[in-house]
Amino acid sequence: MSNPLYDTLFGRHEGKDTPFLHLPDGQTITHAGFLGQVARYANALVQQGIAPGDRVAVQVAKSPQALALYGACVRAGAVFLPLNTAYTASELEYFIANSGAGLFVCDPGDAEALAPIAEGAGIRLATLDAVGGGSLADMAAAAPENFTTVARGRDDLAALLYTSGTTGRSKGAMLTQENLLSNAIALVSCWRFTDRDVLLHALPIFHSHGLFVATNVSLLAGGAMIFLPKFDQDTVIEQLPRATTMMGVPTFYTRLLDDERFTRALVGHVRVFISGSAPLLAETHVRFEERTGHRILERYGMTETSMNSSNPYDAERRAGTVGFALPGVEIKITDPDTGKTLPKGEIGQIELRGPNVFKGYWQMPEKTAEELRADGFFITGDLGRFDDDGYLTIVGRNKDLIISGGYNIYPKEIELILDEQPGVRESAVIGVPHPDFGESVVAVLVPDGAGGPDLDAIRADLGARLAGFKQPRRYVVQAELPRNTMGKVQKNILREEQKDSFQ
Ligand code: ATP
Ligand code: MG
Repeated sequence: MSNPLYDTLFGRHEGKDTPFLHLPDGQTITHAGFLGQVARYANALVQQGIAPGDRVAVQVAKSPQALALYGACVRAGAVFLPLNTAYTASELEYFIANSGAGLFVCDPGDAEALAPIAEGAGIRLATLDAVGGGSLADMAAAAPENFTTVARGRDDLAALLYTSGTTGRSKGAMLTQENLLSNAIALVSCWRFTDRDVLLHALPIFHSHGLFVATNVSLLAGGAMIFLPKFDQDTVIEQLPRATTMMGVPTFYTRLLDDERFTRALVGHVRVFISGSAPLLAETHVRFEERTGHRILERYGMTETSMNSSNPYDAERRAGTVGFALPGVEIKITDPDTGKTLPKGEIGQIELRGPNVFKGYWQMPEKTAEELRADGFFITGDLGRFDDDGYLTIVGRNKDLIISGGYNIYPKEIELILDEQPGVRESAVIGVPHPDFGESVVAVLVPDGAGGPDLDAIRADLGARLAGFKQPRRYVVQAELPRNTMGKVQKNILREEQKDSFQ
């Protein structure tokens, strides 16, 4: 009987005393110790009535036990469904109902408030806290350390991962064993992971980045992780000298750059820093290299596909780009209207095909049909362009493209200039309805410091640098930009707020 994902990522470490998780309190959990927990949790899941194919919805703090619960789902043939810890009760209600989960695992502190949701769905509620306590933990502790792995095929679902909800309501992406396995294999080889690696892990494990990219790669390579409950600046600085690799979102890197303790000497042991989930500013890339001598390796991925492309390990890592397609992944740039491949250098929609591409959106056949072509290409919703050397640059999201008077306007081009202006911390450029042009440009600025931006000076600078049709017709200064729980800017909210700008 086989279970490819379990056997390849987890089962291979059976009986090994090698370190897997280094915890901030100095404890180390070995591979064998971790697998013991996985077996116990797999037994607990079966006791809770979970059968192969059932979804296990999990909203718990990051902990070794929470990671073991992921392994337990794989081993028991269940579908792991991790949920952002920031989601509120009403958001959770949607995920539980939409997924038809068979079990909901939450923090004991939330159990009372969330019990009605489980009751309403007619499912059981079990608990797991940040330090490995709770009803599910008790069951696991009392359960045996052996478990007969449930047989699964490569095409069986391993996870139901909801998208971040940046452009609208989160959609459940159905990920198969093959999706996850093929991606882990590609990344280990591209990024040269081995059993000597120690990855600094400060990402959440409810998202593709921390769960599949960081964890699956470490498991496959047989290396260890410094497993931190969250990104805490002092702890990260303290732990970095032990790490050989780190994965992060761009804000991790900008926050480290703002800390004078973050020096070349501190990261002398690190061989690679990897960034993704949101665009890394070219400026951050440059400052990082000046400070540490490292060029951050930026890659591109999404919930539906895990990783798609990456800058090279050995060749030039080019700032502002996301590199080349991973082995086995095909990427093309197409005309959004015709679907035809565009000549190199032109901006179009990013489509991709490969063993990493998901099976479809959970119970959304129409949405799936809109985005997954019959020939296997997935329309990502991102716009991009290949440069002369074949590096891919993401220009923005298709939904954020502004069409004004028949001209295409890419917000990012304007945002890059606005972000450089004195008094501007960050910016978001959106298109809103305009009676003459169809849409017109609104720039939302977040002030940096007390003085704030000088709008006349900004108008003059943009006037000199950008074509007339790209000029923002309205500037709005506000304290912050709306972001979702993954920290991504929600332009749909800005568009709604500014929709009457030209009416
Ligand atoms: P939703 O699909 O629900 O609107 P989302 O697309 O933000 O939310 P995720 O799957 O978490 O949900 O994010 C994937 C998106 O993140 C990509 O489509 C892309 O727009 C963006 N992204 C990921 N990596 C990068 C990167 N290196 N540079 C720029 N954008 C990136
Ligand atoms: Mg998306």
